[in-house]
Amino acid sequence: MPAISVNNVTKRYDDVVALDDVSFDIPEGEFVVILGPSGAGKSTLLRILNGLTPPTDGNVYIGDEPIGSARSEVGMVFQMHYLIENMSAYRNALTGALSRAGLVRSLLTWYDGQDKRNALEALDTVGLLDFAEQRAGSMSGGQKQRVGIARALVQNPDLLLADEPVSSLDPKAARDVMSYMKEAADERGLTTLASLHQVNIAREFGERFIGVRDGEVVFDGSREDLTMEV
Ligand code: ADP
Ligand code: ADP
Repeated sequence: MPAISVNNVTKRYDDVVALDDVSFDIPEGEFVVILGPSGAGKSTLLRILNGLTPPTDGNVYIGDEPIGSARSEVGMVFQMHYLIENMSAYRNALTGALSRAGLVRSLLTWYDGQDKRNALEALDTVGLLDFAEQRAGSMSGGQKQRVGIARALVQNPDLLLADEPVSSLDPKAARDVMSYMKEAADERGLTTLASLHQVNIAREFGERFIGVRDGEVVFDGSREDLTMEV
């Protein structure tokens, strides 16, 4: 059974067709890069996979669970990191534990010891253990994205999604963030989809590449098949 199965997904916003009959399967543990220009439909696809927006047509399965059944945990890394700037890297990473626990627990209880160990382990995975107590607001753009990855890892996700995680970074920081994400995914056997628009950086880290343009899949292949035109 594939880790993710996207079947004939179409998404319309009024008269805009953001995704047009998109289908693909992703096996467990694969690191997939979604490539495509701005407006291609990458964010829409990731938002559907995360259950943030429903498809107009078609369906998505995570394992044998239809999306939205809330049985699978999906971790998400955003272009804008959405960290709480006044909290430490550690406290920010810890908030990942709230997603699984739900809002009620977040209001009523404290993090437990396991959450705290998970947060430290996740910071270690992204090379930030020594920065755990640093205020997120004082960190570099690349470090913030790495904290965002740690926060997603603390969710102990079945699936990791990253929507343009490095588009606001310079090439060096972008490579740095991507290599931590790839390592984290490899270490944990995590199925990962990351959207990128920089083909050069994508090529270095992706195992499989899905090219999207005008809401359609126009490419699906390995690094060897990847040309600069995607
Ligand atoms: P990007 O091109 O970097 O993916 P966009 O600027 O297209 O981002 O979109 C940013 C946000 O605005 C997204 O959450 C998207 O869903 C929303 N959005 C994009 N286009 C429209 C639109 N025409 N009407 C309303 N919301 C939109
Ligand atoms: P990408 O992430 O590749 O830049 P998006 O998924 O953000 O692409 O957008 C795909 C298309 O859907 C664009 O034409 C965008 O304007 C439109 N779109 C995205 N979100 C919305 C929205 N919430 N309302 C209306 N149109 C949207």
